[in-house]
Amino acid sequence: MEILDGKKVAKEIRENLKQEVELLRKRGIIPKLAVIMCGNDPASTIYVRNKSKACKEIGIEYEEYLLSDNVTMDELLNVIDNLNNKKDVHGILLQSPIPKGLDINEAFNKIFYKKDVDGFNPVNVGKLCIGQDSFISCTPYGIIKLLEEYNIQIEGKNAVVIGRSNIVGKPVSQCLLNKNATVTICHSKTKDLPEITKKADILIAAIGKPKFISSSMVKKGAVVIDVGINRKNDGTICGDVDFDEVSKKASYITPVPGGVGPMTIAMLMNNVVKAAKEN
Ligand code: NAD
Repeated sequence: MEILDGKKVAKEIRENLKQEVELLRKRGIIPKLAVIMCGNDPASTIYVRNKSKACKEIGIEYEEYLLSDNVTMDELLNVIDNLNNKKDVHGILLQSPIPKGLDINEAFNKIFYKKDVDGFNPVNVGKLCIGQDSFISCTPYGIIKLLEEYNIQIEGKNAVVIGRSNIVGKPVSQCLLNKNATVTICHSKTKDLPEITKKADILIAAIGKPKFISSSMVKKGAVVIDVGINRKNDGTICGDVDFDEVSKKASYITPVPGGVGPMTIAMLMNNVVKAAKEN
């Protein structure tokens, strides 16, 4: 069994990006990411802090727009619109969740697709579906990069994705399909889940339930990607996969933390640099 070391691969990606940013800066292009956050959700605060740290390390300018919990939809759309029009801003990220009563899809629709470094605007989602160059959302993109970095074959493999969210499950399924895997998407209404997961050569868990995937659900030699971030009472985090048990059966497995999480941030940085190069 080999650990898919997202922390290490992400560091290498960030180092390469740092050099790319130096070259861009010499040409007078200073990549800039603007992050919008509404309210002060503790998990979001940590994610946003990590993103700002990564930007600083790479030489990407970072701007934060902290809106209150009771911001209106119009106010939020206005902030996005202003950022769409700012020439020096290359990437716009709206941190989720946003306050109840606001429509996150309407907000994603508003982000100009060429600045949509999270890849959630329908233009980018559509481009991904028809195989055109686009901003691919960062977690799915990070998963594919990690698999590629370890030379794990995707083509022709049975890939099973558990979870069908717009931010992980659906786009990662599309990415795997684009790489010629045979993809099955499972969700909360799926019947006989273990029967399906046991056939997976590549198993991706994006559920949000601690240790949901037991070793009896996994085929021997499977590649197991754990996207879950579940906060335990003691403040530490664990994934959706029972790592101790499943790691005895898998050929490759991602740890939590240190697997998909760091890759997500690295691919966000990658997308900001891409946006700066293309705008
Ligand atoms: P979500 O709640 O939007 O989606 C969860 C999915 O799991 C749903 O599609 C649901 O149908 C499915 N599901 C729930 N119970 C199930 C069951 N019993 N059997 C089969 N399927 C079931 O969550 P999300 O936003 O996709 O995130 C999933 C997890 O990934 C969360 O823990 C989240 O924190 C984590 N996450 C991690 C990263 C990262 O960078 N590592 C990024 C995004 C999300």
